Amino acid sequence: MLKQNKKTIASVLLIVFTLATTIFVFKDNIAEAATHVWQCVNCGKQMSVGGNGHPTSSLGCGGDYNKRHVWQMIR
Ligand SMILES: [Zn+2]
Repeated sequence: MLKQNKKTIASVLLIVFTLATTIFVFKDNIAEAATHVWQCVNCGKQMSVGGNGHPTSSLGCGGDYNKRHVWQMIR
């Protein structure tokens, strides 16, 4: 009887572990699709970009329209 209970507990723990892992991976995927904040390493300008997007290398770094921002994901 005691042996049977231990087996049941092990099974329940395995199910909980599997569920927790699944939820964690699922949450991770949502975070991946969330908005990221990019910052220019030269002038410090910040830009929010959704998903796996990358800011367009827009001109106007430091107010100079001959220079491009150098984006780096900070969040
Ligand atoms: Zn810049």
